[in-house]
Amino acid sequence: MAKRKLMMLGPPGAGKGTQAKRLGLILDVAHISTGDMLRDARRAGTSLGVEAARYMDAGELVPDAVVIGIVAERLKSSDVADGFILDGFPRTREQAEALRGMGVELDAVLNIVVSEEEVVRRLGGRLSCGNCGAVFHREFNPPKERGVCDSCGQVGLFVREDDQPDAIRQRLVSYEAKTSPLVRFYRELGTLEDVDGSLEPSEVEANILAGLG
Ligand code: AMP
Repeated sequence: MAKRKLMMLGPPGAGKGTQAKRLGLILDVAHISTGDMLRDARRAGTSLGVEAARYMDAGELVPDAVVIGIVAERLKSSDVADGFILDGFPRTREQAEALRGMGVELDAVLNIVVSEEEVVRRLGGRLSCGNCGAVFHREFNPPKERGVCDSCGQVGLFVREDDQPDAIRQRLVSYEAKTSPLVRFYRELGTLEDVDGSLEPSEVEANILAGLG
């Protein structure tokens, strides 16, 4: 049977979210993005959202206990029994250990590899929809009509606070310091699969699917 308990690993801007959404549809499994969940909480104005916002805007990681709590809750839902794609979690060794502590054995960790130069180029032009969360790019994936969301029609796409230059730099620092050690962690567990993230999204998708069998 194809692998169905998956995790996306890689620096910000590697294309984790894009690939996780596509794979979720193709494999018919839940796409679990901690970034999306935190942004939803923020839009809803919950205390969790308010607490998370200040870390997110600065490009820093939200404290482990907060994120682990959200994921533990989400993994109790019946729609994940058959498989899921974790996107943006775990991001620290502590989160990875907590996931194992929840009894979750990942079938594959897809490590999307892109150069730092490419990451900076991609994140620099990112545009987001404040209504539905869809993401575009000024250069690589512009909306059909300037400033209007293709998905929900919302007018006024914007550059996320954490896609501003200072926050991008901080996100890359956080990735190097806290998340990149997970490459080794999962390689040693034998679940890591490197994926060339420099290609077109459809090619990246095809390579991932071929690797999953
Ligand atoms: P993302 O959309 O995955 O890039 O996440 C956006 C922001 O949400 C990150 O820069 C962090 O501030 C926060 N975040 C998302 N996932 C995590 C996580 N697993 N651990 C800590 N912070 C997270």
